[in-house]
Amino acid sequence: MTNQIPNKIYLSEDEMPAQYYNLRSDMKIKPAPLLNPATLKPVTKDELTPVFCQELVDQELDDTTRFFDIPREVLDFYKTYRPSPLVRAYRLEEALDTPAQIYYKFEGNNTSGSHKLNSAIAQAYYAKKQGLKGVTTETGAGQWGTALSMACAHFGLDCKVFMVKVSYEQKPFRREVMRTYGADVTPSPSEKTAVGRKILSQHPGTTGSLGCAISEAVETAVSSSGYRYVLGSVLNQVLLHQSIIGLEAKAALDKYQIKPDTIIGCAGGGSNLGGLIAPFMGEKLRGQADYRIIAAEPASCPSLTRGKYAYDFCDTGMVCPMAKMYTLGHDFIPSPNHAGGLRYHGMSSTLSELYHQGLMEARAYEQTDVFKAATMFAKTEGILPAPESSHAIRCAIDEAVKCRETGDKKTILFGLSGTGYFDLTAYQQFNEGTMTDFIPSDEELQPGFDSLPEI
Ligand SMILES: *Cc1c(COP(=O)(O)O)cnc(C)c1O
Repeated sequence: MTNQIPNKIYLSEDEMPAQYYNLRSDMKIKPAPLLNPATLKPVTKDELTPVFCQELVDQELDDTTRFFDIPREVLDFYKTYRPSPLVRAYRLEEALDTPAQIYYKFEGNNTSGSHKLNSAIAQAYYAKKQGLKGVTTETGAGQWGTALSMACAHFGLDCKVFMVKVSYEQKPFRREVMRTYGADVTPSPSEKTAVGRKILSQHPGTTGSLGCAISEAVETAVSSSGYRYVLGSVLNQVLLHQSIIGLEAKAALDKYQIKPDTIIGCAGGGSNLGGLIAPFMGEKLRGQADYRIIAAEPASCPSLTRGKYAYDFCDTGMVCPMAKMYTLGHDFIPSPNHAGGLRYHGMSSTLSELYHQGLMEARAYEQTDVFKAATMFAKTEGILPAPESSHAIRCAIDEAVKCRETGDKKTILFGLSGTGYFDLTAYQQFNEGTMTDFIPSDEELQPGFDSLPEI
C-alpha cells in the first residue's frame, strides 16, 4: 500500500468555499418551474413569500446566477464542524481486493449526524435576518428536524417540527435531541391542523407520511404570524446550500490532482447527491470534463428508476406548489423500510431533469443488500453508516468489485451523508436475520400514479 494520499484529506478553514454554486445556472435546459396548482402557471415570488423566507424564495427561483455568497454568520457556524473530511477508503479497498481507488466525503461529523445541517443553518440565518419569530417543518426519520433544531437554537428562533408519527414513536431518542435544542415536536398527522384532522378522519390510525407532515407544517406557518415554512430537501435552494459538499470535495481532490471517474450518492429528495455532484456536473455541462454519476435509491421507494417524470404535488394535502419530477405519485405510501430519509415519493426537479437528459444514472437496492454493505463498511472504515448513506456504499462496493473483475483502476467518489446511531433497530433486525425486502409490484405502484394531477 503506497500511502502518498493521506487517509483523510482536510482543507484548512481558509480553503473552505465562500460561495455556494448554483448548478442550474449551467443547465441549458432548466428544471421545469414550480406551478401554482390553482392557476397552473409558474409560481411567482409574491405567491411564495407568505410560505418561505424572502431570500430563500429568491434563491429558489434563480436559475441564472452562478454563485451566491455564503453569509459570514453561516460560514462561522460551518467552521464549528466543517470542512468535512474527504477520506480515502484504504481498508475497504483492501477488503474488496480492488484496483479501484475509493474516496468518501463524510458529512456525519456533527450532532445531527448528517449533511442536513448545511442547509438548516443557512435557512435559519435567512429567517432570522428577515426578523421572523420562528419556522415550521416536517421530519421523517428525524435527521432534518434535528439539524433544524440545532440551527434555530443557534440563531434564537422558535422551531415547530411535525414528525411522521411512526418515527415519533419508533425514534424517541431523535425526538429528545430536538427537544433538547428547544424544538416543539408534534406527531403527524395531528389534531393541530385542519389538514391533519382531515387526513385522520379519512385514514384513522394512519402512522403518517412525509407528504402529510409537510401539509401540516405549511398550514401552521401560513396561519401563524412571524413564521415561515422550511424544507430540508427536494427544493433548489437546498441543493444550492448543499453544494458546499461538492465544492469542498473537489477542492480536496484537486490538491492531489485526483479526478474521480464515478461519483455516487444516495437519493431521497436529492439534496446530498445534488450537493456532492454540483461542481462536477457543472464541468460536465460546460463540456470541461466527464464523470459517471449514479444515484442510489431504495427498491421499495424507486422514484428515479420506476417513477414517472411528471408534475406532481410535493405533499399529500396538495397545499404546496407542484413540481415536475420523477415521482411515484403524492398518494404513494412506501412500505416501512429503514432508510427513512429515502422514503419521499418525488425527487429534486434539478436532478430529475439531469436524469431525464441522460446526464446521470440511477440504481435501486434492496435493504438487506444495503445493510450487508453497511456492515462491511463499519468493519473496515470504522464509521457506523446511516441506512440512507449505505445505499451509496452498496453502489460504490459493486462498482469496485466490477473493477476487480475487469482490472480497471477507476477512482470512485461517494457521499457518506451521515451516521446510523439512531438506526440501531434496523441494525438489530439485520443482525438477527429478521430484516425483509420489499419491492412493490407494478400493481402496487399504480394507485400512486393514478394520483398524479392531469396537466
Ligand atoms: C435525509 C438524508 C438523506 C436523504 O436526503 P437527500 O435530500 O436525498 O440527501 C440521505 N442521507 C442521510 C444521512 C439523511 O439524513
